[in-house]
Amino acid sequence: MNTSSQNFEFHRSRTVPQFDDSSISDDDMNRINRLAPAELSSDQIYVRSMYLCSTQPCDSDGCQFSNNALYEIAHKIIGQSVLSGHDRSRLPLARFYKAMVVKIQNEQSEPIHVVRAWFYWLRDTSRAKDLLLNIDGGIYREVSLSWRFDRWRCSICNAENGQCAHQVGTSYEGKTCYRLIDHILDVLEGSLVYKAADSNSTLSGVRVSRDDEHDVSIIISTDSIDELFDQLHSLGVINDIQDMTDTEACQGCVDRLWCRSNSAGMDESFVKQWLSSRGVCLSESIDDQANDRCEVSIFVKNNTELTRMEYPSQEENI
Ligand SMILES: [Zn+2]
Repeated sequence: MNTSSQNFEFHRSRTVPQFDDSSISDDDMNRINRLAPAELSSDQIYVRSMYLCSTQPCDSDGCQFSNNALYEIAHKIIGQSVLSGHDRSRLPLARFYKAMVVKIQNEQSEPIHVVRAWFYWLRDTSRAKDLLLNIDGGIYREVSLSWRFDRWRCSICNAENGQCAHQVGTSYEGKTCYRLIDHILDVLEGSLVYKAADSNSTLSGVRVSRDDEHDVSIIISTDSIDELFDQLHSLGVINDIQDMTDTEACQGCVDRLWCRSNSAGMDESFVKQWLSSRGVCLSESIDDQANDRCEVSIFVKNNTELTRMEYPSQEENI
């Protein structure tokens, strides 16, 4: 913990980090080459992903991230180092280049959100194979995130920064008091760690299913005034509203995109930028000057290529 300022630094560990053997797409290479001074090709690198943190309360640090905090972590982890055991005196093992918030189920089959982050390292470095074998062989058993925050709310009474009598970790009428974290100041690094000596006391222990690939979120992009969007939100179907101006963390990561716009025509470069290498976009352009005539297109991305599939217009249907 950094006591020299008002900021707090925590490490959050979790078991079963769920490394995945990720195939390397053109999107991945574009992202990696934004970080690498020398142009790299896919046969020069290894790529794996990890689940970094979730919206589950964490008993070890007494904190619970909001969805917004996860989006901030996904944004801030890009370009950060993967270290071994939080040892910042040594050079990094790998680098994070992509992250997204995904919805999965915890052990109790309840939906939670987690940050999934991808990292790469160079095949030709002397310890590259060791790292690969240690990850795939289950020797690195935990992932630990170093992060800082400067404000929090009490989960019992919503008071800010400890301005109440509730004690973090204490139960009040069956509800444990946590620090609710809405805003992340910094993400410093993510570490691969051997099984921690104090694993029983420091782990949040969220187990995640491996088939989250099939549980993709749909991102809906609308104009600021959209009745359907408002209705879906009031029904609770939509629970995240993101400021669309800060979208770098999502770019190239979206598998399912639904764009609704009342400006004429969908900007294909926008769709191309957002979709993952195999993403699909349903685009509706609503023309309120022409009796709400709606032009529907489907965009399918295959690696970097975007194909537009025209739907029959309403006039042709009549
Ligand atoms: Zn309180």
